[in-house]
Amino acid sequence: MSTPTLIRGADLLGQGRADLLLEGGHITELGRLTPPAGTQVVDAEGLIALPGLVDLHTHLREPGREDAETIATGSAAAAAGGFTAVFAMANTDPVADCAEVVERVYDIGRRVGLADVQPVGAVTRGLDGVELADLGLMARSRARVRVFSDDGRCVADARLMRRAMDYLKAYGGVISQHSQDVSLADGSACCHEGELSGRLGLPGWPGVAEEVIVARDVMLARHTGTRVHVAHVSTAGSIEVIRWAKAQGIQVTAEVTPHHLALTTAELSGYDPLYKVNPPLRPQEDVTALRAALADGTIDIVATDHAPHARHDKEHAFVVAAFGMLGLETALSVISELMVTTGRLSWADIARVMSTAPARIGGLFAEHGRPLRVGEPANVTLVDPTRVVTVDAGSSYSLSRNNPWHGRRFTGAVHATFLRGRPTYLDGTVYPLEELR
Ligand SMILES: [Zn+2]
Repeated sequence: MSTPTLIRGADLLGQGRADLLLEGGHITELGRLTPPAGTQVVDAEGLIALPGLVDLHTHLREPGREDAETIATGSAAAAAGGFTAVFAMANTDPVADCAEVVERVYDIGRRVGLADVQPVGAVTRGLDGVELADLGLMARSRARVRVFSDDGRCVADARLMRRAMDYLKAYGGVISQHSQDVSLADGSACCHEGELSGRLGLPGWPGVAEEVIVARDVMLARHTGTRVHVAHVSTAGSIEVIRWAKAQGIQVTAEVTPHHLALTTAELSGYDPLYKVNPPLRPQEDVTALRAALADGTIDIVATDHAPHARHDKEHAFVVAAFGMLGLETALSVISELMVTTGRLSWADIARVMSTAPARIGGLFAEHGRPLRVGEPANVTLVDPTRVVTVDAGSSYSLSRNNPWHGRRFTGAVHATFLRGRPTYLDGTVYPLEELR
């Protein structure tokens, strides 16, 4: 059992300033408190307390690509980024398509103890898009899988998608779809198809490749009465479809990444593979629409799509380099700069889009995304809303260095993270469990 911690004077958003006592994994007292003997006191003057952040879309690369990231290093990056829970995507080697692999990922995550690692199960065996994976066995396993995804690939076959949605209804499960019609996005495509890709001579794929799958899936959600989650929405057209579907009462949720909110195709002009990502960076019109949709609630959550890559996979010519960028450690600062300092979202909104809503969508709401009240699990993130940070790609807990934010300045930063009352990140340092030191 960890030492009790008293967080002194944090802004509890709507409940005013108060002290929080974290003891035995829970918030045990709230108000103006005198710390009991042996309590660690954390001064939170000027800081905001949020429920611990939850990332519905993370790639931890273990098992199989431990040269790019491990569950331990990814969990450390998560803790430093203010996350108390992360959903680890299934495109590992072996693929997380059966109970054995998801339980292994879950167990390693618990043993590391820096964030609750919740495995995502594959929809199809081996991500091959041909036959359904062991959905029920994963759902009933120790890992209690509730989110299923072939992320990196789209579940292209409408019949399989329909069957998986029908099947998951019994478990309250959800499919997080990587919406991309492969017949509109051929194998060599590496960026958004448009005026710029033509000028740069890069093969691209169009926004409509995403939009047709989003449209198909919301109709399948209506037909099956099951919910569907749209991973990393990137175009204005997808937002129109989602807005329409929500107005019809169709159960659809959607996420956007910090990079799709902040960066445009303009980054591609230097052919830097750091900006090669799937779905690709889009033109300003799409980015403007994404920001508005997150602000008006059409997009439910922010998710990182943290995608670490070893140097030998990323440092190539743009056309052949791997897709993806790091995101766990910088997400809160990017979103703060982009959405809070501009008045588009309040900090209470940030609690919703980065903690409460992702915890609900992913089925973790009993433990994460809870209101900060007595009796609730002590998963807490302290944010300094005025601290200005300059990102240094060299100082990261991730094993990889594909960080697109190097040298950029953001206002707003994570100050500390507590998982079940234990500090996992404090004073600029991640604190692994005693037995891991
Ligand atoms: Zn994806």
